[in-house]
Amino acid sequence: MRNKIVAGNWKMNLDADAAKRLYLDLLNKSIDQSDGKMILIFPPNIYLQDFIERNNGSFEIGAQNFNAKSNGAYTGEVSASQLKSIGCSWVLVGHSERRILFKEDDQVLVNKIKTALKHGLNVIYCCGESLNEREQLQHKSKIQNQLALLKSFSLDEVQFISIAYEPIWAIGTGETASPEQASEMHDFIREELTSLFGLETADNTSILYGGSCSPRNAETLFKCDNIDGGLIGGAALDADSFSSIIEVLS
Ligand code: PEP
Repeated sequence: MRNKIVAGNWKMNLDADAAKRLYLDLLNKSIDQSDGKMILIFPPNIYLQDFIERNNGSFEIGAQNFNAKSNGAYTGEVSASQLKSIGCSWVLVGHSERRILFKEDDQVLVNKIKTALKHGLNVIYCCGESLNEREQLQHKSKIQNQLALLKSFSLDEVQFISIAYEPIWAIGTGETASPEQASEMHDFIREELTSLFGLETADNTSILYGGSCSPRNAETLFKCDNIDGGLIGGAALDADSFSSIIEVLS
């Protein structure tokens, strides 16, 4: 069954005191996942273990980044098996900031997804077009190409992968895709997943919207047929905003 998901990507924000305060505020909100919603938090890696230990079951905790190698001489890196061993259950792969700023190409992303799945981590695979690609009417072909790397995975593996559609021009800009734009792309992603993996798998895959999603626009976006929740950046850094977004997902 397709999950309804709200995920908060904290990126490289918040020093220890502020991070702990936000996490405790969220825990105190007693967010209910019983109505079929999953709430995921992706804090900076240094806070993962503490947050997992403090978790009261309200959230699943994921990592924003890890290395595709299993272990070894990779100074400064963290592996999927290390994440799993502290109780992490999700990872982000393919975020535009990792693709662009850290030059992660398709092969790196395939390797990261492979190692994450091997160690029992669920994956949110992010895709999205730039403003220029949209203006050149290449937004669908861009997404099609980004989804094509999922062909490296079997049906058994794909069931642990969710998709986040994140137009790059909407990330952190305050400019959100309109419900029509987002709907068109989410419908397209569902169609692509259907041609890659068949109707049943496509239908069971959660597709999240990300890009300046806020309490102001979340409800309208989440009402669209193929939008199964959101990947939230800036608005996840405030407990009230994040919980308002969770509330409007039904
Ligand atoms: C993100 O980076 O995943 C994101 C959606 O950020 P924001 O909500 O700030 O646009």
